[in-house]
Amino acid sequence: MPELPEVETICRTLRKLVIGLSITEVQILWPAVVQNWQNSDFREVVTGRRIINIERRGKYLLFMLDRGWTLLSHLRMTGRWTYYAEKQEPERHTHLVFLLERGELHYSDVRKFGRIQLIPTDLCLCSAPLTKLGPEPLRTDFTAEILQKRLAAKKTNLKAALLDQNVIAGLGNIYTDEALFRAGIAPARKACSLSSEENIKLYEAIREVLKAGIACQGTSLRDYRNADGQEGGFQAFLQVYGRGQKPCLQCGRILEKARLAGRTTVFCSHCQR
Ligand SMILES: [Zn+2]
Repeated sequence: MPELPEVETICRTLRKLVIGLSITEVQILWPAVVQNWQNSDFREVVTGRRIINIERRGKYLLFMLDRGWTLLSHLRMTGRWTYYAEKQEPERHTHLVFLLERGELHYSDVRKFGRIQLIPTDLCLCSAPLTKLGPEPLRTDFTAEILQKRLAAKKTNLKAALLDQNVIAGLGNIYTDEALFRAGIAPARKACSLSSEENIKLYEAIREVLKAGIACQGTSLRDYRNADGQEGGFQAFLQVYGRGQKPCLQCGRILEKARLAGRTTVFCSHCQR
């Protein structure tokens, strides 16, 4: 599933490609991809709108349109936005096509979990699901104290707390495991059990892995591609994710694999306490 670095990469790439362009035609190839709107009404509102900005909040992409509308997109497992400069036939899993005044923007999704919502912009930022999201970990106003406060309120283990988008926005399975390994903290620890020293290590590790992920344009293991079709490069730097039963890169012992918060979790029981 795309996490903060992947969605941020898509957002930055799409900004360069489609900001300022008008949507000249909307083709809905799988009706259920549009949430809460009749397809015909959706087409009517979106056709002719200009894309004036693209933002990311957590794992959501926000396409801000003129006349006060925003398209809210969550990619879930396998959703993908791709820009084509030339005319492109939709593929088998393409569910939505925006013909633009220059090029085309396609939304495809093999697993079909992703959805597109159309919301008035002034409501979008101050209503669910965005208002429920926790803080953005890379913003300058997100501090170690804020992280500690939010974790202290959780009775779950750390893995579950960090995956909870209402605690902190944007982390998924990959970057959570990587951050906990870099911080030297065991994922099964109670979220509220961290000392302030451990909390600062975790805070720094979270920001470090997310920044490194963005610098590499994300992690491509199976499905993720950027909006220009490129793969990310952070998979070369993964230290624990996907490395269960392989030797720890720090101590050489075999990495353990466990199920936590319903997700496969890889960690080193020697390096992570
Ligand atoms: Zn180790």
